[in-house]
Amino acid sequence: MATLGKLASFRLPPLPTVSELVKLYNLRAEKQLSQNFLLDLRLTDKIVRKAGDLKGAYVCEVGPGPGGLTRSILNAGAADLLVVEKDSRFIPGLKLLSEAAPGRLRIVHGDILTYRMDRGFPVNISRQWEEDPPKLHIIGNLPFNVSTPLIIKWLEHIANRSGPFSYGRTPLTLTFQKEVAERLTASTSSKQRSRLSIMSQYLCTVHSCFTIPGRAFVPKPEVDVGVVRFTPLVQPQIQQPFKLVEKVVRNVFQFRRKHFYKGLEKLFPEACRVELTHEILERADVDPTLRSTEIKISQFRALCDAYAHLCSLDPSLINYEFREELGQKKLKTEQSRKMDTRTDTETKDSIEA
Ligand code: SAM
Repeated sequence: MATLGKLASFRLPPLPTVSELVKLYNLRAEKQLSQNFLLDLRLTDKIVRKAGDLKGAYVCEVGPGPGGLTRSILNAGAADLLVVEKDSRFIPGLKLLSEAAPGRLRIVHGDILTYRMDRGFPVNISRQWEEDPPKLHIIGNLPFNVSTPLIIKWLEHIANRSGPFSYGRTPLTLTFQKEVAERLTASTSSKQRSRLSIMSQYLCTVHSCFTIPGRAFVPKPEVDVGVVRFTPLVQPQIQQPFKLVEKVVRNVFQFRRKHFYKGLEKLFPEACRVELTHEILERADVDPTLRSTEIKISQFRALCDAYAHLCSLDPSLINYEFREELGQKKLKTEQSRKMDTRTDTETKDSIEA
């Protein structure tokens, strides 16, 4: 009974439903902002359960919109919920929620892509990286065009233990377009295995929680949605700078249908490409005829270590970008083609003269 009493104290007092709020404040979803609302509190409760035990926890919710997920987080007993919402139309509705949960909901009207979360919570909630995660959670149902760049930015923060991860190994529970969720969690040899799989899995335990059918959202998006939970690893599986790992992985996944060395060799300038590709493969001891999707993270680790070694011998290598060289070559060809045309015209003019 005592527990029930305690639980009851977390719960919000009677409020207009989220759908009523949407109507009350005329919160039409903006299609160009990819706003799709979750109005079914059973589903938002389910997302929140996947985030773990929120009783007495600090939580940052990204993109609360009309506040369905926000209510579930408050009902789960979060002690301090900070929401970051870009669209000002949602602020009055969120203020109403904040009044219903005194002292538990803080509203930031801002952009999560630039918001400094490392300043959002008290320093004393921090845990050492090697310890259990802090009692801080990040939860969000964001537009798809924001959630992918955001997770890439946060993965870099995880590698550097900065931003939301200056508090320790803060777990994240986020929604993605189903196809992206599948890429994030894809294992070796899966068709969905991609750059995102390696970048997320070398830094985190990545768990696919469940799929929400598109029809559960208002308005209904074209695609289904996957809920994914990330917990940063104590020891990243690759211990090289994030940018170096990102560069190796990007090059390797360049030509998915070919043997992976075709992409790997583009890490090196043309003049030394054959020699250094041979050397990196020897050092890493990876079969060059594998496809990028077949390479395990331990093999990516060996490739990154070998590449870091070659960069330590020739520091100019790290700045080499195949695409830039390709771009410059194209520009030169274009320029010389123009020159040729001009010379032709000039020659023609002089002949006619
Ligand atoms: N979480 C709500 C729900 O589940 O019903 C709303 C979901 S809607 C897909 C995404 C929300 O994120 C919108 O309220 C939108 O205004 C907000 N949003 C979009 N980009 C944002 C950004 N860069 N920073 C903060 N909020 C953003």
